[in-house]
Amino acid sequence: MLPVVTTIETKCKRCYSCIRNCPAKAIKVEKGQAMVITERCIACGYCVKVCPQNAKKIRDDIFPTLNLLSSKSRTVAVLAPSFPAAFPDLEPGKILTAIRKLGFSRVYDVAYGADLISKEYRELLDSNIMPFIISSPCPAVVNYIEKYYPILTMCLAPIVSPMIAIGRYISKYINPDAFIVFIGPCIAKKKEMGDPKVTDVINQVLTFDELKELFTKKNIQPGNELPGEFDGPNAHRGKLFPVSGGLLKSAELNYDITDNDIIVTEGRDRVLEILQKASEGQIEAKFLDLLFCEGCINGPKIDNNLSVFVKKDKVINYINSRVEEEKEFTLENFDLSGLDLGRKFTNEYKDEKIPDENEIKAILQLTGKSNPEDELNCGACGYISCREKAIAVYQGLAEAEMCLPYMLDRLEKVQNELQKSNIELKESLDTLKKTQQQLIQSERLASIGELAAGVAHELNNPLGGVLIFSSLLLERKNISDPEYRDLKKIIEETERCRKIVHGLLDFSRQSRLQAAIADLNKILISTLTLIENQVLFQNIKIVRELNPDIHKVFVDVGQIQQIVLNIIFNAAEAMDGKGTLIVKTGFSPDKKFVLASFKDTGTGISAELLNKIFDPFFTTKPPGKGTGLGLSISYGIIKKHKGDIIVDSKPGKGTTFTIKLPSALVMQDTYQLNNKIVQK
Ligand code: ADP
Repeated sequence: MLPVVTTIETKCKRCYSCIRNCPAKAIKVEKGQAMVITERCIACGYCVKVCPQNAKKIRDDIFPTLNLLSSKSRTVAVLAPSFPAAFPDLEPGKILTAIRKLGFSRVYDVAYGADLISKEYRELLDSNIMPFIISSPCPAVVNYIEKYYPILTMCLAPIVSPMIAIGRYISKYINPDAFIVFIGPCIAKKKEMGDPKVTDVINQVLTFDELKELFTKKNIQPGNELPGEFDGPNAHRGKLFPVSGGLLKSAELNYDITDNDIIVTEGRDRVLEILQKASEGQIEAKFLDLLFCEGCINGPKIDNNLSVFVKKDKVINYINSRVEEEKEFTLENFDLSGLDLGRKFTNEYKDEKIPDENEIKAILQLTGKSNPEDELNCGACGYISCREKAIAVYQGLAEAEMCLPYMLDRLEKVQNELQKSNIELKESLDTLKKTQQQLIQSERLASIGELAAGVAHELNNPLGGVLIFSSLLLERKNISDPEYRDLKKIIEETERCRKIVHGLLDFSRQSRLQAAIADLNKILISTLTLIENQVLFQNIKIVRELNPDIHKVFVDVGQIQQIVLNIIFNAAEAMDGKGTLIVKTGFSPDKKFVLASFKDTGTGISAELLNKIFDPFFTTKPPGKGTGLGLSISYGIIKKHKGDIIVDSKPGKGTTFTIKLPSALVMQDTYQLNNKIVQK
């Protein structure tokens, strides 16, 4: 038989309400889903009631019932006496007609079964055979005792429930071949039907919800039906069974609140408390009448929003409307001599492994609880304390990670890590962008260089010719000759042109290097000495931060001096002759390069101009002041030295130029390595 309550896996959203509310600890968390453990489940329906996602499913017995109705003409319904509370707006008799319309050949009153067992209860209590008796009509109470208080099974009244009583009555006295479908408010009745100790008479159990669904499926509107009557014998006070204390009334037991012999208790928490006390021998009463819900009128499958008092009113009003039937009734009217209303109970207790202190500690540590103050006992996991949860983890009922504070902590850490990697990612992207820009810049400069080199070559020779011939002409002229001055001018301008052409050749790295091992600090000192006394530098503070440990470099000293001079002059002009210039040397992080930087406090360079300053002939200086060749030539020279020139500038704040030259040590290693390879 299929389990009565199951979890719809994808619907469970880990709120753990079911764990908090399950009295039988019958929920196990597996892969984050709260699953019902069938062997532990008492089918009380609490998990179904409390699940906000409707993720708990009750076995659907509609289709098997429809099958019975279509194939077996002798299918009869037995209707629980709480039905007026389930259909509060309808005249009760109309429900009976509607049930018949579904195809049930007869409709019997379960209250009659309650009447039958009431007599058994009175006899049992009068006999004093059992010194302490617990009532047994509520299957959830019976299930709970069998599974969790086996010591109390011998105290359960060995009498069947009203459902089984009416079933046995019908089978014995009315129709032994009848197929009987119980209709009521209780989920646990579905479980009781499959209990091997009472499994003989009831064929299907429908909840009131399922009955309503059947009406809808068959397009039956009970409100439109004429009121009908129950088949078979009239029930009497058994109709009171679904309300608290109903058993006592129908068994004609006088219940006096000052009398300690009888205790009537209902509702999960009170029932669990009294069972605990009873198992400890702390109850003095002779009879406990227990109902897991607040009476069957508040059963899990009476799904209207009426209060328990209004539901009680509905049932009582119905009973009062049938008062005539009660008049001649006494329990003695029943001849039950041939009817077996007895039952047995079994011990279904399963011993659970209990972890020792060390095992509990180890589990607590899995969620970062090393000290007692880490145990917040917040209950978010569904267990009342962190230790209870640790025990459940040990027993395989819970998962260690289902700890809200721990998960929040982890979430925060993950979030922080994500933020960190985001920053790293941004930094890498920035570096990538910079490198990309540098690549574009050097590619552009390389193509300009090629063009410049071509033009410079072409111009170099004719310029040489102009210079030679004009010099020859000049030699032949006397200084007083009026053409002498013109020829001199031609020679001067031609030399200026040659200089520009050489500059272009330098930029395009076409001119030859005369490299030697040199000390960059020394080059800087001698260059700075050259310019320090010039007027432009009189109000400029030059700070030297030269690292004495830098490696030597393998460079053309004259060309490097030319670069340094150009950078320093540009800086002085950008500072308009006043400010600070910091000249600093050092290493690249991998020590493969020696660096020299020149930081000024000048105008700075805007982002849009930054890309252009290395272009030949780019200048922001007035005509006659700048040629726009200084930086492009510097760039060419540095590249020829396998180095780099980097600029970093903030408009309004200043500019730093850094030149990067390979360390002579590294060049030497590469040279030796190359040589070895060649020698091989
Ligand atoms: P020139 O000095 O003849 O203009 P350069 O190639 O040396 O040619 O410089 C190109 C341009 O780069 C300059 O006109 C100027 O706009 C800019 N520049 C160079 N160095 C600096 C600096 N330190 N501060 C501000 N702008 C600079």
